[in-house]
Amino acid sequence: MIRFRCISCGYFTSRYVSHCPRCRSLIVIDDENIVWKIERDEGSIWRYKRLLPYTQSIISLGEGYTPLKRVDSVIIKDETRNPTRTFIDRGASVYVSYLHPRENVVMPYIEDYTISISRYLSSLNIGVKVIVESGHIDPIEALYLADMGVDIEFADVKSAKEISTFAYDDPLMIEGYKTISYEIYEQGWKYLPDGIVVPSEKGILAFSIAKGLLELDRLLDLDYIPDIIITLTKDMPVPELVRSLTRIRIRVEYVDSTDALKTMTKLAKRGLYVKPLSAMAYSAAENLHGKYIAIISGSSLRRFSSRIDSLTDLQREIFNLMKRVDGLTAYQIWEHLGRRYTLQGVYQALNKLVNSGYLHKSIKMVGKKKIGIYFYRT
Ligand SMILES: [Zn+2]
Repeated sequence: MIRFRCISCGYFTSRYVSHCPRCRSLIVIDDENIVWKIERDEGSIWRYKRLLPYTQSIISLGEGYTPLKRVDSVIIKDETRNPTRTFIDRGASVYVSYLHPRENVVMPYIEDYTISISRYLSSLNIGVKVIVESGHIDPIEALYLADMGVDIEFADVKSAKEISTFAYDDPLMIEGYKTISYEIYEQGWKYLPDGIVVPSEKGILAFSIAKGLLELDRLLDLDYIPDIIITLTKDMPVPELVRSLTRIRIRVEYVDSTDALKTMTKLAKRGLYVKPLSAMAYSAAENLHGKYIAIISGSSLRRFSSRIDSLTDLQREIFNLMKRVDGLTAYQIWEHLGRRYTLQGVYQALNKLVNSGYLHKSIKMVGKKKIGIYFYRT
């Protein structure tokens, strides 16, 4: 039995609420029954399904279980490897799996979040309409949403907020984000103990990572709990939410915005396309010279390929299909396209797409037979 609890006024309920109905504050999920049991065959956040709210059907695009890697002197948790290149996908998967929306949805535009949720909803063939306050959208994200088939309406965003429960700080989203802590415990405890450096605006990610660490401590009685270091520019206030965390040590590192831009371009040369906020986490970890892990999330820039114009219609159609439904065999792709092409043509197009780096192919053994499976995401 899980409990949805308000962090401010003490209100709680056993039924899902996105925010506190009394005071509109953040809701968190308490679950006394979680156990530290890992599904070792599962390469996504669902390897921790015994630590997540129970759901009958899991909607996953392979989010989470992202690698740790060293980039010069800094160990990063590479969240650009998620389906839409952001840690938000972790939350989107939990949210969509638990609530399993069945009807078309309308939601306000929130940077990164809207793309992530739309991607999960479109994998369920649910239509999405996004309300944008005129001009307040990253133009590249607008193109990306349009490319996914999302309707964009420029209107008064207040109405969308009123009719929609979709929110970046939903308790189910937090459950997804917290899995970063489990993965760091599983993959990267040796790179700590000084701290985890987290990009921050409102402090939701730092809050979620703290929740994961405190759960681990309750279940496993950890030797130590790493500090959480939030990165801000001088003009950004320390988020209220972070102040509410008392059982974990939170530190603030200020990063110069020019330094963040320098780091952003440095990481781009390494093939890591990140947002200035993530670049700040990297810069801070670099300046701290200790045993830290920096959380790095992606930018929308890398979502487009400039070479896409050179594709044939069939190749482009397959490419667009794979962006929505990942992990298919050639035969399944042929069926998805309504058998309008020859199967041989589909094979040829797939070879071209794999050789040009648009798609990836992996081989799976089914009995003694090798099956090729195609993926959009790396
Ligand atoms: Zn409340």
